[in-house]
Amino acid sequence: MSESKPHRSKVALVTGSTSGIGLGIARALADQGADIMLNGFGEPAAISSLVTELSTRYGVRVLHHGADMSKPSEIEDMIRSTESKLGRIDFLINNAGIQHVSAVETFPVERWDAIIAINLSSAFHTTRCALPGMRKRGFGRIVNIASAHGLVASANKSAYVAAKHGLVGLTKSVALECATTAITCNAICPGWVLTPLVQKQVDARAGEKKISNEDAKRELLAEKQPSGEFVTPEQLGQLAVFLCSEAAAQVRGVAWAMDGGWTAQ
Ligand code: NAD
Repeated sequence: MSESKPHRSKVALVTGSTSGIGLGIARALADQGADIMLNGFGEPAAISSLVTELSTRYGVRVLHHGADMSKPSEIEDMIRSTESKLGRIDFLINNAGIQHVSAVETFPVERWDAIIAINLSSAFHTTRCALPGMRKRGFGRIVNIASAHGLVASANKSAYVAAKHGLVGLTKSVALECATTAITCNAICPGWVLTPLVQKQVDARAGEKKISNEDAKRELLAEKQPSGEFVTPEQLGQLAVFLCSEAAAQVRGVAWAMDGGWTAQ
């Protein structure tokens, strides 16, 4: 357990961190010494072994709060509980998100509401609740996991694209409101990352087109991502570590693409 780890004694809350990108970011911050509040769904036994695995591997305190990110009262409880059990929130990583693919005129209203709540409004609620503590301590890093779809659109993803563009806008507003403090707010805009959220889209494409899973992955990448390779949760974790660092103190209100060239086109 090295004291030279830059984020030792810092506390990170990562929403939606029982899987995929959020878990990659939680691991990267824990590896730098930060205590971690995990959040997200899963089997209680699997979550409990994840908590044990992370705390043992990285030598940090790790807890889990099961707040549903579509419920403001549960979000408020998660922020209060993180501050009381871990002492503070230095890094707030708004990552929880879901997807639904459908044409706008047949888009289920309930899915629209859920995507806006989980992918956009949850970041408003965590931010408004965590900011007073950050202001009091004079330090904070808020990192919103948006998407290439926060910068450009695709057909049949209206709710997701609207939510992610909204999240990029929220990022800029919060960055400006905190501009004269040591609290920064930035967004990361990943391209395709092979997580359960994307695997569902790969499976749907393989099923519809009667092609193999590997061919479906290749097609998905070829359509949007010039590198032809998936971005990884580990790479996104390192970008989050940078945005949380002192070196990033003057990075404010950016929407930083890590997308294999998707939005350069
Ligand atoms: P994932 O499905 O692997 O993980 C989503 C996480 O969010 C899980 O921990 C899940 O339990 C949690 N979650 C879902 N609904 C929740 C709710 N109501 N309350 C609390 N937690 C909830 O997905 P992922 O691909 O890792 O996505 C993470 C974020 O990255 C999302 O915001 C997504 O939009 C964004 N993103 C993903 C990709 C990609 O290609 N995978 C690309 C760009 C952006």
